[in-house]
Amino acid sequence: MGAPDAFTSTTDVGHYIGGQVVAGHSGRTQGVYNPATGQVARQVALASVDEVNAAVASAKAAFPAWSAMPAIRRARIMDKFLALLNEHRDTLAAIIVAEHGKVFTDAQGEVTRGIEIVEFACGIPQLLKGDYTEQVSTGIDNWTMRQALGVVAGITPFNFPCMVPCWMFPVAIACGNTFVLKPSERDPSASLFMADLLTRAGLPSGVFNVVQGDKVAVDTLLTHVDVKALSFVGSTPIAQYIYETGAHHGKRVQALGGAKNHMVVMPDADVDQVVDALIGAAYGSAGERCMAISVAVLVGDIADQVVQRVAERARTLKVKNGMELDAEMGPIVTAQAKERIENYIGIGVEEGAQLIVDGRNFTVPGFEGGFFTGGTLFDHVTPAMRIYQEEIFGPVLACVRVPDFASAVELVNGHEYGNGVACYTSDGNVAREFARHIQVGMVGINVPIPVPMAWHGFGGWKKSLFGDMHAYGEEGVRFYTKQKSIMQRWPASIAKGAEFTMPTAK
Ligand code: NAD
Repeated sequence: MGAPDAFTSTTDVGHYIGGQVVAGHSGRTQGVYNPATGQVARQVALASVDEVNAAVASAKAAFPAWSAMPAIRRARIMDKFLALLNEHRDTLAAIIVAEHGKVFTDAQGEVTRGIEIVEFACGIPQLLKGDYTEQVSTGIDNWTMRQALGVVAGITPFNFPCMVPCWMFPVAIACGNTFVLKPSERDPSASLFMADLLTRAGLPSGVFNVVQGDKVAVDTLLTHVDVKALSFVGSTPIAQYIYETGAHHGKRVQALGGAKNHMVVMPDADVDQVVDALIGAAYGSAGERCMAISVAVLVGDIADQVVQRVAERARTLKVKNGMELDAEMGPIVTAQAKERIENYIGIGVEEGAQLIVDGRNFTVPGFEGGFFTGGTLFDHVTPAMRIYQEEIFGPVLACVRVPDFASAVELVNGHEYGNGVACYTSDGNVAREFARHIQVGMVGINVPIPVPMAWHGFGGWKKSLFGDMHAYGEEGVRFYTKQKSIMQRWPASIAKGAEFTMPTAK
């Protein structure tokens, strides 16, 4: 199996403005790697201020007609897009593998989770339905409606080049907004592929635009007077910058940041299930998931068994080119990211953690230039260590041993991140207490990666989310619309005379 021809060529990746691919004219480009080979496969254009302005202008021009279109007609276009996404699911998955490196079946899973948000967006007429109260005062009715904001923008990370944009644009455009997406410059092709499918689904030109680029593009969107709201997903320092700068420029902002997700393992948990969960959640997608488990909190005397059995599995992980169907883990996205991860392994050793499995110096025969690293396992990690505190964003699992449930909860709640967390136990009361008291936005009870379904909304707490609205679900609809409240009466209900007192129900 190989990536589709169009994306194995060295064609530069351009922008998508006004319903068509537009080549970059800034004179700035950046290499896009195939992480499995370590070779530059193509160049991505990096937009200038003028190019971003052109995308926003295209979205602004499309807004009046698009927002005026009945919601059910917008939903029908989403429905056609959904059919095309399903038809081309594997092509999109192969594009993701070729630029991100994750294994093909995992990429298929990513596309499926993106598709689920499109399915949700197809129900937009129901979601936009307002509230109505008859007779709030004699002859007066009050109702609310939700209206689109205008041009909205999305800035997305490298680790889910299909799914994370799908957390944003299907809901935003179904609500009647027009959209400018700035995808990660490391894997930019999936966004262009989806833009083409949207056009084929009948989306009017200018409703969905893509600008490729870096900080220049992001800063232009952040400060642009015609951009009304920004959704961001990426690392915490940039999320905070986006939130503060966007808010300073009067925009709505939801900015999802980094993570350090713990899995608490209680002594009564099923060890087989725990080991399967840790292996998949720590090393799947090479740990480059914001919901990956990077800390195992081992409670009481279950610790030795879990460490020993996870170590056996970590040593024999099938780390390969992601297009090989038995691969369990692919390469790291870039050489710099691999170096950062391996530096952290050195830091862990210096800090005194016990290195049980060392993923450094890992090569894959036939792919010697690829950005591969193996699975790494540390035991006896303590909260004072940097490898515990900081997001490594790679296949490195840190085991922390604690004596009891209360210490496990205290540990998790003391961390600055609060994206996802899991608890493995067979005790219903422990599970219930955990779910109630844990200070984390997304909780799994015997579920290692509790990514909420399309209609529930996604978002962490603490430094994992800046802003108050979660992505997609009903909060996504609220984020991309503003509420208007209307009070109405007709002349027959209007009494004569001016009123100088506060109106109350009569
Ligand atoms: P990143 O923060 O480096 O980049 C994200 C986006 O911001 C990209 O589009 C990038 O071009 C842009 N960007 C980078 N530096 C910038 C700067 N100085 N100014 C303006 N824009 C800038 O993140 P990444 O490495 O692409 O993705 C990995 C990170 O994303 C991890 O921290 C991971 O936890 C996080 N993430 C979080 C979630 C979540 O839902 N909370 C989901 C996926 C990824």
